[in-house]
Amino acid sequence: MEFMQVKQTMNTILIVEDEQPIRSMVGLALGRAGFELREAADAKQAYAEIDRERPALILMDWMLPGINGLEIVKHLQRDANTQDIPVIMLTARAEESDKIKGFGAGIDDYISKPFSPTELVARIRAVLRRTRSEIPTENCEFDGLTLDPLSHRVTAGGEEIEFGPTEFRLLKFFMQHPDRVYSREQLLNNAWGRNVYVEERTVDVHILRLRKALAPHGFDQYIQTVRGAGYRFSPAT
Ligand code: CA
Repeated sequence: MEFMQVKQTMNTILIVEDEQPIRSMVGLALGRAGFELREAADAKQAYAEIDRERPALILMDWMLPGINGLEIVKHLQRDANTQDIPVIMLTARAEESDKIKGFGAGIDDYISKPFSPTELVARIRAVLRRTRSEIPTENCEFDGLTLDPLSHRVTAGGEEIEFGPTEFRLLKFFMQHPDRVYSREQLLNNAWGRNVYVEERTVDVHILRLRKALAPHGFDQYIQTVRGAGYRFSPAT
């Protein structure tokens, strides 16, 4: 799935819910609040909708036919292109709420059924406010190496450098936290997400690719190996 070229409408909410009356009720409430609702009844439709247009937030029902809502969230978490879409889980039972608390990262809030449309809109607005403020929109620039976090473009001396999604996230993390040493585990948590299970040596593979892409412009030297500790992004200036 390729999401980077897909436009993101800031007010599009995707609901993944198999019960049509709930989708209609939510659609009415969100429409009045100025949001546009996209609907999916199962995992397959959800992935297709996200592929077509990246939503600003996902309302995810837990109990769905086939793949359940939690599995869908885990799947989205494993993809660097979708892992930062905020998710509010819709739950039907108290024990589901307990499990969501244990699930940790990946779910931004949950709301128990039956919920009032007013409360739902308030929760959506709160999550969007919180998560949007976490998205850095400023360009990072060091000595002519520039990264635009919104368009996912990296340029060196005005020339665009192509990266894989993982290399991009690694470089973004490094450029936003220069001159600090990070262990492989810290890099995994920050550039891959906490719910992704990959071996620590995978980090070395991607560091190698990142350096290779930066090498023609001389910026590979900025990615420094710190023996016994990890890696550091160290610009000249
Ligand atoms: Ca359901």
